[in-house]
Amino acid sequence: MLKNEVYAANLLLPKYELVIFTWGNVSGIDRETNTVVIKPSGAEYDTMSAAEMVALTLDGKVANGELKPSSDTPAHLELYKAYAQIGGICHTHSRYATVFAQACMPIPVFGTTHADYFNGTIPVARELTEAEINGDYEKATGRAIIDTNFDPAEIPAVLVPSHGVFTFGKTPLAAVENAKILEEVALMAFHTLMLKRDISPLGGTLLHKHYCRKHGKNAYYGQ
Ligand SMILES: [Zn+2]
Repeated sequence: MLKNEVYAANLLLPKYELVIFTWGNVSGIDRETNTVVIKPSGAEYDTMSAAEMVALTLDGKVANGELKPSSDTPAHLELYKAYAQIGGICHTHSRYATVFAQACMPIPVFGTTHADYFNGTIPVARELTEAEINGDYEKATGRAIIDTNFDPAEIPAVLVPSHGVFTFGKTPLAAVENAKILEEVALMAFHTLMLKRDISPLGGTLLHKHYCRKHGKNAYYGQ
């Protein structure tokens, strides 16, 4: 059941040390019924239950749930509408990825850890306009991510300038795993840049090799 899946995925956020307090949220979608399930707003990870997860229609009407959905829900809904292949979305302010987001710096591919999971630079979304910030802010955040023109199958993560990160997956669990991998990649990239400021990103051949041996048509990594 989607509520259990979304609940379990949310519990991984503090476990993977991607959030503190009530920060962050994970959602999932059932594409057959177009039902989105997301964490309730401000819910404590320690005490929330699977039953408290909020179910909504794609246009944001609460279908099932006593509590208010996460305030970031409109961003999630925009992304589900734009990308039919996304089954789960995760939003965090995980430390190193957010350091890049605050600096408005994309994360270049510096090594094969990055190349194993992301087929290129992790992009930064555009900044919001004054009108967007004062208006439907969360929905505009989703629109700005979509304007990045990223392909969630190839690069399932986008940095939101001065804010945090959104990651994607075929399932809520996959979106959280991508958030953890992104954080590790951001930590490595940060320290690489500290050690050597003028390092060049990985050449296309090695990037392609690593990405494709895991995800390409003829992938051979794993059992
Ligand atoms: Zn946020």
